[in-house]
Amino acid sequence: MKIAVLAGDGIGPEITAQAVRVVQALGRHGLQVEVESALVGGAACDALGDPLPPQTLAVCESAQAVLFGAVGGPRYDTLPRAMRPEQGLLRLRKHFDLFANLRPAIVYPELAHASTLRSDVVAGLDLLILRELTGDIYFGQPRGIRRNEQGEREGFDTMRYTESEIGRIARWGFEAARKRQKRLCSVDKANVLETTQLWRDVVTEVRQDYRDVELSHMYVDNAAMQLVRNPKQFDVIVTGNMFGDILSDEASMLTGSIGMLPSASLNAKRFGLYEPIHGSAPDIAGTGAANPLATILSLAMLLRYSLEQPQAAERVEKAVRTVLRKGLRTADIAREGEQRVSCSEMGDAVVAAL
Ligand code: NAD
Repeated sequence: MKIAVLAGDGIGPEITAQAVRVVQALGRHGLQVEVESALVGGAACDALGDPLPPQTLAVCESAQAVLFGAVGGPRYDTLPRAMRPEQGLLRLRKHFDLFANLRPAIVYPELAHASTLRSDVVAGLDLLILRELTGDIYFGQPRGIRRNEQGEREGFDTMRYTESEIGRIARWGFEAARKRQKRLCSVDKANVLETTQLWRDVVTEVRQDYRDVELSHMYVDNAAMQLVRNPKQFDVIVTGNMFGDILSDEASMLTGSIGMLPSASLNAKRFGLYEPIHGSAPDIAGTGAANPLATILSLAMLLRYSLEQPQAAERVEKAVRTVLRKGLRTADIAREGEQRVSCSEMGDAVVAAL
């Protein structure tokens, strides 16, 4: 088994270094995973003039999964679009056809205070949002800004999904639910949009193959409301690109701690790109203040979904829970008066807990 590690910019190298230590620790307990690092983003632009150099792509292709840190920073904001660090990430998603985006939102009891919602509403939350990532109104043609017959400017986009695109993400949703509490909620706007009426029809058809999973449908406006009213009612939510974009950000904020949230983007062959949802945090890069847990939890997802090592994944997640229970806190998740540990001290603690 092999993973490519693309640390990227800002805090990227600090946080991925801790995840690599976790891989090494698992190696001492019998899980042999080769790690190969490569440049991406601004770091790759600086060294090789390209945010995703061919040699980096080759390293990714030789692996089963990519562990990605973060890219970007103020230094690169004035570069032409094709040279921007985020192009490295977008090109990777496109190259590997990563259509399934998985975003868990977990509220650890110890960190329930970090949410802006009442702790009793969020404590113990464990929800997975599955967002289709390569279709929908973000990619549909035609699109543009034109002058209409009255001479007024008019913007237009096309919402479009084929049944095969809906079917494959629906299957992922049912599969994911099967590994959890067996409840899948499909979110659409079938009362208004034809595309999402098809979405609802296809998800319902796919259910025939997953009779053990309970399926419900919810309109997106209600889902947005239910996520803040009673988020614990959900197990897995599956939805299209645009609704997923918005709902997954809403769900991540239920937890209140950006440094804790992992994500995965997968293709049909289970090749995946795993990354924390946060960015490169240039404001704290190099200070040792970064929280590496989102990256370590991304590694756990990598072990579960791409390397199919659920036990190793559980061990890593359990180790994270242990360090939180012991009271270890990086600055972003510490309350006033609580002692703070550095990025590498948090890594030390997770390795020890493993
Ligand atoms: P950000 O997520 O980098 O930072 C937002 C805030 O959260 C900052 O105050 C930061 O210090 C804090 N933070 C983020 N991650 C943290 C961690 N692990 N531990 C502790 N604190 C953490 O978002 P931003 O400031 O809007 O963007 C900074 C750069 O990152 C930009 O160049 C942006 O384009 C890029 N970005 C990259 C990705 C990615 O690589 N996938 C995603 C989002 C933003």
